[in-house]
Amino acid sequence: TIENAAGKESKMLNDINGYTRTCGLIGNPVEHTLSPVIHNTLSMVLGENLAYVPFHVENGRLEDAVKGAFALNLLGLNVTVPYKSDVIPYLTDIDPLAENIGAVNTLVQTETGYKGYNTDMPGLYRAMCEDGVKVKGEKVLIRGAGGVARAVAMLLLDKGAREAILLNRTVQKAQEVADEVNRIAGRKFSKAMSVDAYDTLPAGKQYLAIQATSVGMYPHCDAAVIEDPAFYEKIHTGYDLIFNPPKTRFMELVEAQGGKAYNGAKMLLYQGIIAFELWTGCKVESWLADKVYERMQEAKKTEDGK
Ligand code: NAP
Repeated sequence: TIENAAGKESKMLNDINGYTRTCGLIGNPVEHTLSPVIHNTLSMVLGENLAYVPFHVENGRLEDAVKGAFALNLLGLNVTVPYKSDVIPYLTDIDPLAENIGAVNTLVQTETGYKGYNTDMPGLYRAMCEDGVKVKGEKVLIRGAGGVARAVAMLLLDKGAREAILLNRTVQKAQEVADEVNRIAGRKFSKAMSVDAYDTLPAGKQYLAIQATSVGMYPHCDAAVIEDPAFYEKIHTGYDLIFNPPKTRFMELVEAQGGKAYNGAKMLLYQGIIAFELWTGCKVESWLADKVYERMQEAKKTEDGK
């Protein structure tokens, strides 16, 4: 059980031996990451001889970092901001979903180098399934048009959503993303809309909304792109990809109009779990996912208290 595993935690460093495999995270910054909690807990409970370590990679050193990791026989890496797209030229292979999304967050060792995957979107989808949020056949509003919003639109296409409307402050950016997604879809699946134009959307709780901007993220917790309750009346479910704070202003506004609201913590959990499964071949069952999620919450409270 995880309780037994937690008891063993102090012994963990002594358990590192000549057979220990290493995985890690590359990014800049990496200091506040919760990923070591996810992977080291999974390793302990599942008895995998694997250690996970964050590596701060300075700008301009990404190629050296990937080559160095391969030379050191690292089993795998996660990749975070700002390197998720920049890392692609240094891979020997790329999964088709990651290629379509244009961002990689997980590297898996092969004989000749690393293969890149995107587990953020499968992670979001697994989180939504766990939370009972349906995608197939849904009309979806995506707030934002950055790298994550684009990936969300690709996921929605892949999982059979009916349409994806991108609402963004800069409409031009939303239009570029919609055009790109429609090109891959081979039909008009996505369209762009200015954030001010939401009153043209039909009335009634018809939409699932996915909040993919950085607005409302700690320490600016009181901010939301749209405050008008009329917008939230159109939404039956709101999914905010932000996980700090746990209840964002967007979520409060959705709930105030009777909708259901979720944050991005489970997306973070499942992107990690899927990466771990790729590295080790293990299958993480839902009871263990729940326990890891509890440990993430505890670790976050400790970090917040510092
Ligand atoms: P990004 O590329 O920087 O895009 C940011 C988006 O936010 C753009 O659409 C931008 O609009 C919009 N925006 C920023 N400030 C705004 C403001 N004041 N008013 C209106 N719109 C504003 O970011 P990203 O990489 O796509 O990431 C987006 C978010 O996803 C992150 O903040 C993070 O919280 C979340 N995320 C969560 C997870 C997870 O595991 N849960 C993983 C990855 C990311 P313009 O185009 O008009 O500038």
